[in-house]
Amino acid sequence: MNEPPLLPAPDAYRRRPLRSWLRLTIDARRAAREGPAAIAARQDARLRVIVAHARARSPYYRERWSGLPDAPRLDELPPVSKPELMACFDDWLTDPRVRLRDVEAFISDPARTGELFAGEFAAWTTSGTTGQPGVFVHDRVARGVYDALLVARTRVVTPSRLLRALGQGLRIAAVVATGGHHVSTTLVNLNRHRFPVLAPRIRTFSVLTPLPRLVAALNAFDPAILVGYPTAVHLLAQEAERGRLRIRPALVEVGGEVLTAEARATIERSLSTRVVDQYAAAEFPGIAFSCRMGRLHANSDWVILEPVEADFSPTPPDQASHTVLVTNLANRVQPIVRYDLGDSLTVSSVPCACGSPLPAIAVGGRRGDVLRFPGADGREIAILPLALGTVVEKTPGVRRFQAYQSGNRELRVRIEPDDASDREATWARVVDRVDRYLASQAIVGVRLVRDEALPARDPRSQKFQAVWDARTRPAALATRIGEPS
Ligand SMILES: [Zn+2]
Repeated sequence: MNEPPLLPAPDAYRRRPLRSWLRLTIDARRAAREGPAAIAARQDARLRVIVAHARARSPYYRERWSGLPDAPRLDELPPVSKPELMACFDDWLTDPRVRLRDVEAFISDPARTGELFAGEFAAWTTSGTTGQPGVFVHDRVARGVYDALLVARTRVVTPSRLLRALGQGLRIAAVVATGGHHVSTTLVNLNRHRFPVLAPRIRTFSVLTPLPRLVAALNAFDPAILVGYPTAVHLLAQEAERGRLRIRPALVEVGGEVLTAEARATIERSLSTRVVDQYAAAEFPGIAFSCRMGRLHANSDWVILEPVEADFSPTPPDQASHTVLVTNLANRVQPIVRYDLGDSLTVSSVPCACGSPLPAIAVGGRRGDVLRFPGADGREIAILPLALGTVVEKTPGVRRFQAYQSGNRELRVRIEPDDASDREATWARVVDRVDRYLASQAIVGVRLVRDEALPARDPRSQKFQAVWDARTRPAALATRIGEPS
């Protein structure tokens, strides 16, 4: 029992899931207590397991890594990108039961959100921050690791908080993009399937719901735990400040976008609770969790983060990187090794005052702007970037999109259709869906203008932003028609 569990064998984990999971949880605490050397040792050992597995079972990596030594150093492995991996999905994955066609069929059925694919794998889809769609599959052991990290690292499960949550009926509200297999919706719904007794107490609320109706529904549900995107929860916290939202959750958990210091302060003040922030990706759901000082700490015993420049040379500490290469040390079925995630990351050289030996990081490049349009009654109505993004992105025929507010009543949209010959029809569908969505939010008279350019990175920051307010961010508009992305 003294040896740290490196990466539990799938069979052992299947036979004794609770015992295996407890060992992972205990080890996550132990690694953080023992310090940087213990964390680095786990990282090295787990990397060897993942690399050996990928080499043995993934035709893609076997070919890609041919000519490398038996136990290559991390920096000897070539960086990979989502487009190139998605293009050879079936060769990339290590389990013949997981085929792209079948997974796509599975995730195209909203009724199956939260079910396990092939009875074993969590599967979700994302457009991610680079705008390219991806399909991600996580095996049993990996899911155990993600859960263990959440429990061990956030310390959310304290006796007093548990008591408070129990007193509030243990209801969990998740304000997410519902109706599809997004990461957050799937994670919430996995719990409904896993703990049927809790199922009636777990409810998802769509970020597309008009704010007054969302506030009323949350007041009626009275959750003990509130989960959501920072922009959505921040908006709700402002409703609490105005006395309209009256919930008092024991815990608020946010992720998927950057939580600003101002948003954190507003949420903690108006909902009088602690906020746990996480840096999550479809490729690894709990890359980092926030500490009591409000800083994010990377779970570097299970995930390797390499902040790099555009040419993949390392970015020095305390500087914002161009992108980050991520390596998932827990998931065997879909090996993610030195994978270009697209986020800008800053690793701090100064230890955090909380005392954690895990690296303190800051993430940029994920935040969309909240757009504000005049409502029917003249008041300003906020539109969440993620909500608008969901409406456009889920339009049949849309492969990628960008949307920016160019005037008080003007929204410009760029689309890349799945099929170029279907451009006009796709645009008509986008206009129809966005118009109906804005009307549902009591916003009228907004002109939708087609921007003929394809979705592109911001030429200055080189970051891809899906939704922004061009009135406050003119720089983003500088992208010219035809500029390569
Ligand atoms: Zn800290």
